[in-house]
Amino acid sequence: MATLPLPRKVTPTAKSSKPPRFYADNTILSGYKKCPRFHYLRQERGWRSEGIRKPLVFGIAWHAAMAVVWQGFHKLGKNLLPVAMEAFWQSWIEEGAPKTLDLATIEEWGARTPHVAEEMLINYVHERESILKKSRLISSEQPFAVPIFPDDTSVWYIGRKDEKILLNGEGLVIEHKTTSEYKKDGGFKSSYIEGWSPNAQIEGYLYSEQHEKKNRARMVWVDAALVHKQVHDKFKFIPISIATGGIEAWLWECRDWIARIMSERERLATAYTNASHMTAFPKNTESCSGKYGLCEFIHLCRSVNNPHKLKVPPEGFVEDRWEPFDILKLNTIMEK
Ligand code: SF4
Repeated sequence: MATLPLPRKVTPTAKSSKPPRFYADNTILSGYKKCPRFHYLRQERGWRSEGIRKPLVFGIAWHAAMAVVWQGFHKLGKNLLPVAMEAFWQSWIEEGAPKTLDLATIEEWGARTPHVAEEMLINYVHERESILKKSRLISSEQPFAVPIFPDDTSVWYIGRKDEKILLNGEGLVIEHKTTSEYKKDGGFKSSYIEGWSPNAQIEGYLYSEQHEKKNRARMVWVDAALVHKQVHDKFKFIPISIATGGIEAWLWECRDWIARIMSERERLATAYTNASHMTAFPKNTESCSGKYGLCEFIHLCRSVNNPHKLKVPPEGFVEDRWEPFDILKLNTIMEK
């Protein structure tokens, strides 16, 4: 069988012979896959729409509580739930969510409120008690950076694994997720459960695990928690492994997406800035509306054909760069 050619290697665009490093994470790559123009606006310009993104705020706060549960289960005893909830509140406030919730605010936030989180947390610890007891935590919120090309240290795939545990002698990655995809019978929509395989984020974790010397995980368990106004006790582990050859396929695709981003950057660098429209990072209008609603840039894309001309974010948008390298504190694990 013919071997698929590797995508061309990323070439430096800077004049310096030493190219800057490119750190790709799942957020960056999935944004580009959704729409190259989305990638340009969100990543190259660092813009986002103003205002609080409620599902994101709740998800980040839930992760903060999960870190306490998994790190503190054997140490905190009766204080586990209060400390986990404190972590939830701290993250919630840091992300700009309201400190107090009157009835109107609760209505506005729907199921994604601290009160729902508290109920969920009580049920979560009860449901997960047996695995928390019998597993050993290897790491929690551990960042990773792995090379993408064997002979090029300028391109890295980075991320952070929520928990890594040892269960029955096997390494296992746990990835916490919240979802509102509810169905009456069983709690989770089957499309949500089935949608985890194939999944580039999970495959990226398994690729990074291949660089581990000890307790290498061959499986990720997605730790799904249902967020619902009335139902607070639905949790599900969704075990994901990868078929033989799957990691190689992920790596090929990861290289390909990175090469496409770099190629668009090159096109942009030679494009005429004041042209009537952009000739790089094309729009993919199939993605303007999806299962999570309208794309945050839809008003911009409707009215501005060449956002490259704009020096500052237009009204309704702010500059808020996604800097995974700094967020993950990767300088602590990578040589300078
Ligand atoms: S509105 Fe559509 S074309 Fe514009 S960035 Fe979003 S997905 Fe892309």
